[in-house]
Amino acid sequence: MAVLTSYDPASYHYVGEHIEATAVGSVETTAIEQLPTVINNAKVAQKAWASLPLIERQQYVVKAYQQLHAVQDELATLIGQEMGKDYRRATYEVGGTLQNAGYFASEIGDALATEDVGNRTELQYRPLGVVAVISPWNYPLAMANNLLMPALIAGNSVVLKPSEETPLVAELFINTLNQVLPQHVLQVVQGGKALGQALVAADINMVAFTGSMAAGKHIMANAASGLKRLVMELGGNDPMIVMAGANMDAAVRFAVASSFENAGQMCTSTERVYVDERIADEFEQKVVALASRYRVGAWDGANVNIGPIVNPIQHQKVLEQLKDAKAKGASFLLGSDDYALPFIQPTVVSNITPQMQLETEETFGPVVAISRFGDIDEAISRANNSHYGLGAVVFGGPSANAVADQLDAGMVGVNQGVGGGNAPWVGAKQSGFGFHGTAAGHRQFAQVRVISR
Ligand code: NAD
Repeated sequence: MAVLTSYDPASYHYVGEHIEATAVGSVETTAIEQLPTVINNAKVAQKAWASLPLIERQQYVVKAYQQLHAVQDELATLIGQEMGKDYRRATYEVGGTLQNAGYFASEIGDALATEDVGNRTELQYRPLGVVAVISPWNYPLAMANNLLMPALIAGNSVVLKPSEETPLVAELFINTLNQVLPQHVLQVVQGGKALGQALVAADINMVAFTGSMAAGKHIMANAASGLKRLVMELGGNDPMIVMAGANMDAAVRFAVASSFENAGQMCTSTERVYVDERIADEFEQKVVALASRYRVGAWDGANVNIGPIVNPIQHQKVLEQLKDAKAKGASFLLGSDDYALPFIQPTVVSNITPQMQLETEETFGPVVAISRFGDIDEAISRANNSHYGLGAVVFGGPSANAVADQLDAGMVGVNQGVGGGNAPWVGAKQSGFGFHGTAAGHRQFAQVRVISR
């Protein structure tokens, strides 16, 4: 029996030339040869599940989510142990998922109800069949939840392939829901990228994916032969523009908090800050002062607000981006390009240029990367000069609104972060394909059928 071992990111360290870490636990790996059985079980279960009225599926799901209350603390602890998020944030992730479950389920139910569109014609939202949900490690519970709940309520059966970094969170989540759900309506398969690829290629009807742009492109190609339906929420390289009329303290707080959230391992974290040169000295000084107050540490450490980087490969990637910036002339205002495993200390770098990886790539670490601009059009052009288009924010006076209108992103914030209210979570350009959330998002997990009689 092959096993997938989950390691505590805070424990990665070198012993001689080898990296060692403490195991949190392990799960049985799903062999690729087992997938046909899993899919077959999912297909059989889906037929019975889809035959239930929408309201009954909704009630089943709500009841299943209620079981999670009993394991709330265990889930939060596992999130911390498996991916390093501090306990307060992990508790927030779990609490958010649980508290919203009832509302989320009823919103999905409402979106999928049959609609009379006049002229003796109605729109039905019918299940697609078997949906593969493939999720990342950075918000291991929330990201899986966002996609699997609409998929289930729409009458599909779901096969979840969680990240190989966080198998234990997924195992507990799914096993708990399955105390209520009918057998095989929701299954979990455990493994890495190869298993994800095999699942996409298997006889399924839809892939609902959250993860990197590179994996998203591969999934799209892999799903093409069967024209499988896709919803993909991908990476970001979010810009922030700080104009001369901005509330300085609010802009500083946002730049630091959004760059450092989840140790910088967040799809919508601020990746590049373009600040008006007239206010840049003050902005940089205040950013450094605030950033120096952040403390790195393990998930259960006291006063920790930046956890470890999830694994040594990601840690190395952030170091390479910092070294690239240094070699190309960036100034380090706080921190350096040289950190031992497993942490990246709060880092503030200025004089970023469009040639640097900190500008062109997603940086999954706690780094504020600052450039100065003289002309707002130059700032807008650099902000938009990316294949990514997830979020973008602008801080400024009333003219910030006109700047916001020119930003090419799925979600734009003016003097605040992105998202909020009853809005979908949506990436433009290569940050996504399809989206989830709100009626328009929920309906992507269903086949629309127009029936006139
Ligand atoms: P990843 O793409 O490496 O992996 C995500 C999942 O996909 C994992 O379960 C992995 O095993 C699987 N996978 C990888 N390659 C695959 C392939 N070719 N076919 C099928 N499955 C494959 O991403 P990650 O490192 O786990 O997560 C971080 C990335 O996710 C970042 O780019 C981040 O911005 C993005 N993200 C986006 C959102 C969003 O809402 N837009 C939210 C969270 C994370």
